Amino acid sequence: MDFTFNEEQKMIIETIRTMGEKENFKQLAKDIDAKAEFPHHLLKKYAEMDMLGMTLSPEYGGGGAPALNAIIAIEELAKFSPLIAGPVFESNVGAVRVIDLFGTDEQKKAIIPGVCNGDISVSVCMTEPEAGSDLTSLSTFVVEDGDDLILNGHKIFITGADEASHYLVYTRFGDIKGYKGIGGIIVEKGMPGFTFGKQEEFMGLRGMPSCDLIFEDVRVPKKNVVINAGDFSKLMWTFDIERCGNAAMCLGVAGGALEEAKAYAMQRRAFGRPICEFQAIQFMIVDMAMKLDAARLLVYRAVSGAGQGLPSIYEASMAKCFANEMVVEVCNSAMQVFGGYGYSREFPVERMMRDAKAWGVAGGTVQMLRITLASILFGRRFDQRPGK
Ligand SMILES: Cc1cc2nc3c(=O)[nH]c(=O)nc-3n(C[C@H](O)[C@H](O)[C@H](O)COP(=O)(O)OP(=O)(O)OC[C@H]3O[C@@H](n4cnc5c(N)ncnc54)[C@H](O)[C@@H]3O)c2cc1C
Repeated sequence: MDFTFNEEQKMIIETIRTMGEKENFKQLAKDIDAKAEFPHHLLKKYAEMDMLGMTLSPEYGGGGAPALNAIIAIEELAKFSPLIAGPVFESNVGAVRVIDLFGTDEQKKAIIPGVCNGDISVSVCMTEPEAGSDLTSLSTFVVEDGDDLILNGHKIFITGADEASHYLVYTRFGDIKGYKGIGGIIVEKGMPGFTFGKQEEFMGLRGMPSCDLIFEDVRVPKKNVVINAGDFSKLMWTFDIERCGNAAMCLGVAGGALEEAKAYAMQRRAFGRPICEFQAIQFMIVDMAMKLDAARLLVYRAVSGAGQGLPSIYEASMAKCFANEMVVEVCNSAMQVFGGYGYSREFPVERMMRDAKAWGVAGGTVQMLRITLASILFGRRFDQRPGK
């Protein structure tokens, strides 16, 4: 196994570090959180730097790079803030990957170039009031009407909210029960009957647009079908790359917290010496670094194994689950190193802790990931419904 970055990957890291320094991303991260405002201005900047859609198909304007390049970029940007990494996440490991892999030529031509230049963003719309972990119970449905599908339903917690331009909506086709009836269609903002709920008030990730989507007799052309009923596994399979992106956010947030804690421990004095000279502090820092490294190896394994394609369900689930718990533990320790200031909004580790908590729910909870892993380890399915 080769753990060294190639020249291109080293350049991505270097470029992001220089940009972060030059543009004072640390302050930007603080401002985003304080004002709860998404940093839209970054989209055009990232597009100019070829960071949007760097992993998408080159024949449609993407960069054709391996997934690891995007993961490294997400991690590096998320050290400042997951909001700063958001556009790189969405354009490389988000729902657009489903279109890139399984969409029609027409869909790819209509969407991928726009994603790469920052004009288009695609949200993934799975969760419903009565279907989160139990996704196969979703009740949003379409019925055929000539060349169109008529869509009705309600989605919640949708990242991108009313600020995205396109929505990959997981929906039931007709009345086919269970996962066999679920496919994915593209719904565009502005389609009659498509409206939005109010902005979600989350504990962290402040500034991230998130709200309910309401579909009332929305007429969607059949040519917007990306995944037909019966191909649900393709949707979930592609989602594994998004899970690696989620895990990369955790690496970034934890990496940011570790850096802050280390710097603080060297500068803060107690009992006449810097607190980094106390073994209790040293061990906390070492444990943070050890957990972060372990998570990083799991994430890089999952993504490198995938190359230009998709990671294995086992490796992606394990990486996400471990990274989701790691980031909370690391941020918790970082707050402890900061003492009273760790609890203060003046210092960044409090924000990092709030941001850290999101990832073990978004993209599938750590419990559901363990259920997937258990079924792979035991080589059998464990139906979660009563009486089975
Ligand atoms: C920040 C954030 C961003 C999000 N972005 C999106 C998005 O862009 N698009 C989208 O579609 N959704 C999004 N979500 C929603 C997210 O995917 C769901 O919240 C998640 O899948 C869990 O569903 P739920 O909230 O309905 O919890 P539930 O399914 O109600 O689960 C509640 C609790 O019960 C546990 N549980 C449920 N079933 C089992 C079981 N069988 N065994 C053990 N434990 C179980 C869960 O692990 C959890 O702890 C986002 C959520 C957050 C917090």
